[in-house]
Amino acid sequence: MILNRQRERLQRLIGTGLPEFVENFSYLEHRVTLDTLPTGELNGRALLPPGENPADPLYWILLDPTFFDFIYFLSNVYASAIDFKALGWLARRFAVGDESVRTTDCIRFGDERPLRDLSDLLQMFVVHGTGPVALRPFEERIFSFAEALRNQAALFVVAHEYGHIIRGDLKAQQSQQAPWLAELGADIVGWRLTNAVLNMEGTSPETRLGGAALFFMGLALLEMTRHELATGEPWNLGNLEAAALSGPKPSDSHPTALTRRARLTHEFESHFPPDQARAAEFIVGLFIDLTNQFWIRLGPNFLVLHQKGQRPKPVWKGYIGVEQGQNVSETPEEAN
Ligand SMILES: [Zn+2]
Repeated sequence: MILNRQRERLQRLIGTGLPEFVENFSYLEHRVTLDTLPTGELNGRALLPPGENPADPLYWILLDPTFFDFIYFLSNVYASAIDFKALGWLARRFAVGDESVRTTDCIRFGDERPLRDLSDLLQMFVVHGTGPVALRPFEERIFSFAEALRNQAALFVVAHEYGHIIRGDLKAQQSQQAPWLAELGADIVGWRLTNAVLNMEGTSPETRLGGAALFFMGLALLEMTRHELATGEPWNLGNLEAAALSGPKPSDSHPTALTRRARLTHEFESHFPPDQARAAEFIVGLFIDLTNQFWIRLGPNFLVLHQKGQRPKPVWKGYIGVEQGQNVSETPEEAN
């Protein structure tokens, strides 16, 4: 199953011989149960089951099975809209300083299908709350690119949950630190693990942020859709970016998808040479541009739905406010 495949990929890090990986994954090998459970969230959740002996703990990492549907359709939408044959060489040209290259050169404009499919996807999740039903099958030609993206995204999400376990977030009292701080910390550990796995698997450094970028853009789209449906105010990546730049406040339960994405890019840039960082930036920039292009067309539709009285369903949120800790409490409804 998809979840256990991610665990196997992570367990192979023992083979790197690096002490931090050997220690953590030797210890965790038989202590982590990965399973699917209907949580209503398009994200992972790491738990220390109630009553667990703190001296000899076993952990759960749970994902709603619908998460895999979401990431499956999302990866197909993005892969359908990207000219991935052009992407490689354009990113390389950008990496060596060619400023004339634009991320929009990799977008397959004029193809209405990805837009229609994304519209259906967001409507099913946020407006109807049903998850994906009756979505159209995708073209064969995008399969391997989309598959690579979603495999990276699934790895990153599971690695993020391992990040909570490794950091000790599940044992910490919830009041000891702001939840958003734990989220950003788990992202960094999760990214280090993801990067090391992709390195072992021979994925070139500049493409390693693709899956995480896809996941964060998916969360951003859910946030934007929910916001517009709930408030009737136009909301876009620029609004989310402004919130990200102003930084999360200690009172915030969760950082925005864009804060999380920006932190990862920063982390990447501090560990890789400038040309690889530029190529990675190009690819992440493409996901952002594409999301903007989609939203320019889709955003107004959700404002119309708001005017007609449609409100977001309280399921299928992209984030988890307090996912760590022993108390699995209801995530409070978004106030804004
Ligand atoms: Zn988390």
